[in-house]
Amino acid sequence: MAETMKTHGAGTLRAADAGSEVRLAGWVGRRRDHGGVVFVDLRDASGVVQVVLNPEDAPASEADLRGLRNEYCISVTGTVRLRPGDMANPDLPTGEVEVVGTSMTTLSAAEPLPFQIDDRVEVDEAKRLQYRYLDLRRPAMQDNVRARSQTIRAMRTVMDDLGFMEIETPTLIASTPEGARDMLVPSRLRKGTFYALPQSPQLFKQMLMIAGVERYYQVARCYRDEDMRADRQLEFTQLDFEGSFWGQEDVLATLEEIATRVTRDLRGVDLDRPFPRLTWHEAMERYGTDKPDIRFGMEIADLSPVFAETGFNAFAGVLASGGSIRGINAGGLGLSRSGLDGLSARAQELGAKGLVWIIAEEDGTFRSPVAKFLNDAELPGIASTLKAAPGDTLLIVADETRTALEVLGQIRLEIGQPDGHDELAYLFVVDFPVFERNEDGDFAPLHHPFTAPVDVRQMREDPGHAISKAYDLVLNGSELGSGSVRIHDPIVQAQVFETLGISDEEAERRFGWFLDALRFGTPPHAGFAIGVDRLVSILQNVPNIREVIPFPKTQSGGDPLTGSPSRVESKQLEELGIEVRAEVRAEWAADEAAGD
Ligand code: ASP
Repeated sequence: MAETMKTHGAGTLRAADAGSEVRLAGWVGRRRDHGGVVFVDLRDASGVVQVVLNPEDAPASEADLRGLRNEYCISVTGTVRLRPGDMANPDLPTGEVEVVGTSMTTLSAAEPLPFQIDDRVEVDEAKRLQYRYLDLRRPAMQDNVRARSQTIRAMRTVMDDLGFMEIETPTLIASTPEGARDMLVPSRLRKGTFYALPQSPQLFKQMLMIAGVERYYQVARCYRDEDMRADRQLEFTQLDFEGSFWGQEDVLATLEEIATRVTRDLRGVDLDRPFPRLTWHEAMERYGTDKPDIRFGMEIADLSPVFAETGFNAFAGVLASGGSIRGINAGGLGLSRSGLDGLSARAQELGAKGLVWIIAEEDGTFRSPVAKFLNDAELPGIASTLKAAPGDTLLIVADETRTALEVLGQIRLEIGQPDGHDELAYLFVVDFPVFERNEDGDFAPLHHPFTAPVDVRQMREDPGHAISKAYDLVLNGSELGSGSVRIHDPIVQAQVFETLGISDEEAERRFGWFLDALRFGTPPHAGFAIGVDRLVSILQNVPNIREVIPFPKTQSGGDPLTGSPSRVESKQLEELGIEVRAEVRAEWAADEAAGD
């Protein structure tokens, strides 16, 4: 399509364009004055090209030329020419050419900048978010935004090719039980009542299956009012999908298709299929987490058999109380005594009673603060179970089994995880337990309460050990998303609620509408949701998801650009029938007095 303001993207010009007349428009990146001749790095969404503005060619008034500043928005007409051989810049795709301007117009001026628009300049994140429109001009951020668009496009292409329909579901909904705190929106028309923003479109997509839509997907915005971490935001985007007459294998094959396509489009790499699979139990035993990073070994081994007869009281006590002794071979860490003690302190911080280190010395002996308590069979037993070579550091945690696994799993990551995300290790984790115990010791769904158990009878008789038809997709140690085969039988659904301690009345009150829907010929169905922000951030090799979200919130949930969340006019609150409590208003007054 012909554009009126430009003939070319600045970043698209190459040696083959030499001699062409071009019209460009963009921003002044860098500007250098060489004896009156002005060199401008002209940047637009396609990249950067050098423009030469020589006053002798009178491309603009003297004042305009001299007045050019960083980030002025300009338009340039000129001729592409090859840079003299030794002036070519091999670091720039357009580095072989430059544009000699015959006319330059300032389209709009820019105030002095709060920070330089340069990928190499480190800027405080709060400042970046406050001036996000400038931050997004940086080439790395442009690249992130483009990668996000490419990812979503690749996802849509796969889903469309596979015959899925994109269907929107409402964002003002009734609260649903997905484990997180709901974001609430007060209703003006029915004062005193609230909508919830969806934690995900879970129940709507299930109702679409009941509605006879056999293949659904949506690039869905989801909301969870949780404390934020590097890979969490209050609102985030999922590729959500669901299929009828479907089981786990159909979902996992679809996920492989999506991940392969996205990875090829973003990284130019073809993934091997099928992706590796671990059961939840294997993942916990070998890596101490349900989202293992399998780019490196350092797997956890069970050392309990080595200590079956131990005289070392600390270990014997743990075994007697039903715990276990687990270890990893951390390889040739070469840590000093204080470095090793630091690992023990870290293990305690993570919740273990302690951590024992053992160094396999070159001469076949072992050095460890506990060596004197261990017998002649135990040290070699540990070494052979952990396949120790001379110089290796062995780390052992004796504790309640789950604690030992989780602590070693975390330490494994902290000492072994490769930097960056050049290598991509996708993995499915399957066979999750149906329930976990929450802080009060009650059963809570590990995925969500609409997930089908493998064996309903077992779920009723021994809920603590019941396995579900839930699965996760993991990439480089990050959970990219979860899904499950759903319950399509209202009786089983009622039994799950019962096991969760939700009474019939409460179930009826909270999701009676959904239980009713299940009673009208529900097809077997299954689905999944992939976290788009997380996937793009890993593929883009950036440390947190805020880098790939155009307008994210800070860790404390604020937006420094627009000032949200913000107080509203009393009139708005009155219309909603809402009053801010006196103690909160007193806090506001105190903030105001403090000039906040
Ligand atoms: N709704 C689930 C989630 O957001 C995904 C699913 O089960 O499809 O995690």
